[in-house]
Amino acid sequence: MSNLPQNSTPSESPDQSGTFARWRRKFALITGLGVTEEERLEDLRRYQTRNCEKTKEYLLNYSPAVVFMLKHLKLSGYDVPSGNILCAPCDMTRAGGYSPEHGAIVLCSGHFFSQTHMEHTLVHELIHLYDDCRFKVDWKNLRHHACSEIRANNLSGDCRFTRELRRGFFAFSKQHQACVRRRAAESVAANPACPDAATAERVVNEVWDSCFNDTRPFDEV
Ligand SMILES: [Zn+2]
Repeated sequence: MSNLPQNSTPSESPDQSGTFARWRRKFALITGLGVTEEERLEDLRRYQTRNCEKTKEYLLNYSPAVVFMLKHLKLSGYDVPSGNILCAPCDMTRAGGYSPEHGAIVLCSGHFFSQTHMEHTLVHELIHLYDDCRFKVDWKNLRHHACSEIRANNLSGDCRFTRELRRGFFAFSKQHQACVRRRAAESVAANPACPDAATAERVVNEVWDSCFNDTRPFDEV
């Protein structure tokens, strides 16, 4: 800059100024200086969604549980297109969701604290999808919903502090069962067809035995 002739204005080539503008903007987005909160969040969401997509691709190819579920979905007649498993920003109360109308799964980008967390969430939603393919779930029927939630929480690793115990001690872990029961009741309580939390708990209890012991397609668990 100091070598510029006196009579020329220090103009950069369009290329350089474009790079500089991008760089300055990136810096601003990271520091939060010079951009609105909305711009900063938008950039964060894009970044999180890209990360989520990367991890998703990895899991679809290399997670034994995910690959296993996709194989069994295919055997049940649904070859899930990878576009039907998508990453998107959601409200922060949830990690994932399953849309029965679209046969699609949403992974909530920005919600996951680890790859394993996303893996459990994906397997959880794949079990809902599997139940829909195999048993034609009526999601407005609380007993149906409760059953699928019990299975999804039991088999996905969501209640993972007992993962090591699965082989051999599976049926005996009270902690694991309490976790599955609690999470299933929470999900059922969030169903618009459910009047209150007490009803959700009651319905989970009513279908518990048959649904907790139904470990398809993980029959060897
Ligand atoms: Zn669920």
